[in-house]
Amino acid sequence: MNIFDLDHAYVAHTYGRFPVEIVSGKGCRVTDSEGSTYIDMGTGIAVNTFGMCDEAWQAAVIDQLGKFQHTSNLYYTAPCAKLAEQLCRRTGMKKVFFSNSGAEANECAIKAARRYATERHGMEKPYIITLVNSFHGRTITTLAATGQDSFHKDFLPLTDGFVYAPANDLEAVRMLTEQYDCAAVMFEPVQGEGGVMALEPDFVHGLTELAKELDLLLIADEVQTGNGRCGALYAYMRYGILPDIVTTAKGLGGGLPIGATMLGEKVQDIYTPGLHGSTFGGNPVCCAGALNILSRLTDDLMAEVRAKSDYIFSELTNAPGVKSVSGMGLMIGIETEKDAGEVLAACRANGVLVIKAKAKVRLLPPLNIPWDELKTAVSVIKEACR
Ligand code: PLP
Repeated sequence: MNIFDLDHAYVAHTYGRFPVEIVSGKGCRVTDSEGSTYIDMGTGIAVNTFGMCDEAWQAAVIDQLGKFQHTSNLYYTAPCAKLAEQLCRRTGMKKVFFSNSGAEANECAIKAARRYATERHGMEKPYIITLVNSFHGRTITTLAATGQDSFHKDFLPLTDGFVYAPANDLEAVRMLTEQYDCAAVMFEPVQGEGGVMALEPDFVHGLTELAKELDLLLIADEVQTGNGRCGALYAYMRYGILPDIVTTAKGLGGGLPIGATMLGEKVQDIYTPGLHGSTFGGNPVCCAGALNILSRLTDDLMAEVRAKSDYIFSELTNAPGVKSVSGMGLMIGIETEKDAGEVLAACRANGVLVIKAKAKVRLLPPLNIPWDELKTAVSVIKEACR
């Protein structure tokens, strides 16, 4: 059996895969089993921060693999402690809980918020406000947090305790706080799976004020927006706010699974031994790779990400066949006149891999994509939209 047939026969049918078998990659290029190479403008959905087989990241991972691969959280390890230190130093957060995915990072944030509301405000049933069109993960609780009915309908009953407000509607958030005992507001600074829509700065600032007034926790879900993707280390920084909890995953690991829930001052001591845990969380190999990634997310690189973003926006805005361009940094959505699937197929046929977000074409290139490769990819995408 070829790999397509083998996959269809034995892998659960949860994904609609493109007809491409990736066999190798280097930098922003990937090669398929037919020997065709593509410029990868999707990076495994914002995971391969520095592209495929990045040498410095690989060296950090291999070095740790040569020492030991796993210990359990019953022991101390340097990569885990050092990564937590770096994350705290660079964000103003105080403590980090490590897990393996974005959904788990959000679960940890939700548990922290509930415990805070119970301990601090005596709430018996604290609610968390999330936004319509949000995406927070695939576990039963993070599906409940996800503000899209289409994700809910096949898996009822979901975890109770979530209410939803339209994005950018501060009045709706305020009304929910009057109707329910609310512990927190959880939001993606740029809604990714919901269509690559950045929240309006006034809304985010209004949320911050409301949170201060009511002692609501602000939880920024930076699973996709974080780790330099939006042109700042974390996208909340571009809004000039400081959330109480920041969750991340994807690009932090550079290609290995890691989730991180960063706890700010108010909730830094919310967890005590036994309240939460993860077998693989803080895995030394994943943390060693993440330390390398984080050390390279410099101000200079962020300026480069913003410059590349400006280039993509200026090339695609008002281009033939393009209705609108949205997003932030190197997380970009393109609303096209043609069906997005058609644009994806045309890009693929011309050596560029792009992905979708709802009905949009989504770009998530490696942060260090060389300018010449970026220009080639953008011209192929422009042509495909036409
Ligand atoms: N939160 C956001 C904003 C995401 O974009 C995603 C994944 O796309 C998740 C959470 C879930 O992450 P994971 O698939 O690693 O569980």
